[in-house]
Amino acid sequence: MGESELRVPLLAANWKMNKTVGETVSFVGAFIPEVRSLLDSTRDPWPEVLICPPFTSLPALSSLLASYPVRIGAQNVYWQAKGAFTGEISPLMLKDLGCRYVIVGHSERRHIMGETGEMVARKVRAALDEGLKPVLCVGETLAEREKGEALKVNSEMTAGGLSEVKKEEVSQVVIAYEPVWAIGTGKEARPDDAAQVIGRIRETVDSLFGKGVSEDVRVLYGGSVKSTNIRSFMMCEEIDGALVGGASLDPVEFARLVFEVLRARPDRRTG
Ligand code: PEP
Repeated sequence: MGESELRVPLLAANWKMNKTVGETVSFVGAFIPEVRSLLDSTRDPWPEVLICPPFTSLPALSSLLASYPVRIGAQNVYWQAKGAFTGEISPLMLKDLGCRYVIVGHSERRHIMGETGEMVARKVRAALDEGLKPVLCVGETLAEREKGEALKVNSEMTAGGLSEVKKEEVSQVVIAYEPVWAIGTGKEARPDDAAQVIGRIRETVDSLFGKGVSEDVRVLYGGSVKSTNIRSFMMCEEIDGALVGGASLDPVEFARLVFEVLRARPDRRTG
């Protein structure tokens, strides 16, 4: 498939451990009218929008957004289908709740919960087996960037996360380049630096699966994205969208982000 069919820009929200069910309902009540007024729903289709709330808000979000082109996803998954794994959730259960995507290997899970590269690879595999699209997060720490290791680290994290993926499945994986030092800090990466790392991520995908394969893989940027800076990232041809934490919690701000993605890439949208 050609680039225009597969690399539809994706705006993904990671709510992290925020919002009760009641707060989720209020968010949707404010977000939908705001985004409709910005996009003028009679003429403009939406770009692909994804919201990943806490597990507890998935059922409410799924039913509230059923008639809108907004996908829902989870922030984590375990690799087994069922069984004695207290506190975990399976890909089958996420699918059952209407999830299309699942974030895997977010830096907070790697650094706070101690998730290893091997665990991340197993989660990517398990998501694909259930027909969920994994959003595989990679990104260097500040120390790694200062040592000049950003390209190497991101290449290795990409190869590790994709180690159990087959060539014909790789276009189902979304990769999110999220430098750890940019997450939640208000210090976003320079778009040309992000594009350079994303270029190396695509080279890694090509070296693993074959020349040109990466052209069908969406790679997002994440780290202190907001409505006032997303355009500079979307203007880079290499960057297919954004994974947004803090700014996605405010319904008006998130609606503006949807609008900015569409404005930056009016030619590629989902309808
Ligand atoms: C994230 O947590 O994935 C993220 C990018 O957070 P923020 O947008 O708040 O930096």
